[in-house]
Amino acid sequence: MVNMISVNLTFDDGPHPEYTRQILDLLDDGNHKATFFCVGSLISKQIELAREIVDRGHSLGNHSFSHKSCDDISYRSLYSEYASTKSIIESITRQPCRILRPPYGDTNFALKILSRITGQRLVYWSNDPCDWESPITSEIIFSRIVPTLKANDTILLHDWVFDNPKSRDRTPTIEALKYLVAYMNNREIISQSINT
Ligand SMILES: [Zn+2]
Repeated sequence: MVNMISVNLTFDDGPHPEYTRQILDLLDDGNHKATFFCVGSLISKQIELAREIVDRGHSLGNHSFSHKSCDDISYRSLYSEYASTKSIIESITRQPCRILRPPYGDTNFALKILSRITGQRLVYWSNDPCDWESPITSEIIFSRIVPTLKANDTILLHDWVFDNPKSRDRTPTIEALKYLVAYMNNREIISQSINT
């Protein structure tokens, strides 16, 4: 265990009743833990699913209520987007939600202020296979992740794609995750959830 390398698998834009559960099942092989940056409008309709994510040992992070870029809305709307989602997440986890990932990674001064005053640190990624592209295959996703994979990487994947209807078949990501979990298990790489 001394040589075990740790990474952070993260999944954005869900939860989704079918795909998120398939991901949870795959992560169990190797006891990997992940972080799900959920969209508030989706969690609010799927409280049981969100609770299952937590009960199975994973973390929830704030990915706004309706997946809007901070560059497109007022500070008031921005605050509402993140405050409402924070409170939904906290009603499930019963602990403070301290991590926030802005849609598209868009960041501005208002978001930085919001992050500070609400105690939610901004979490981005270091390994992005762009699994939301369409068309895409599991082989492409896997081959984009692995060559540069290193200790403490934060890998960005999607259990749903909120904005682009063409990318909503998540099968390539699920299949790529199967390869990735096998690859990680072979090399004693473990995914941990981001510390909230
Ligand atoms: Zn997103």
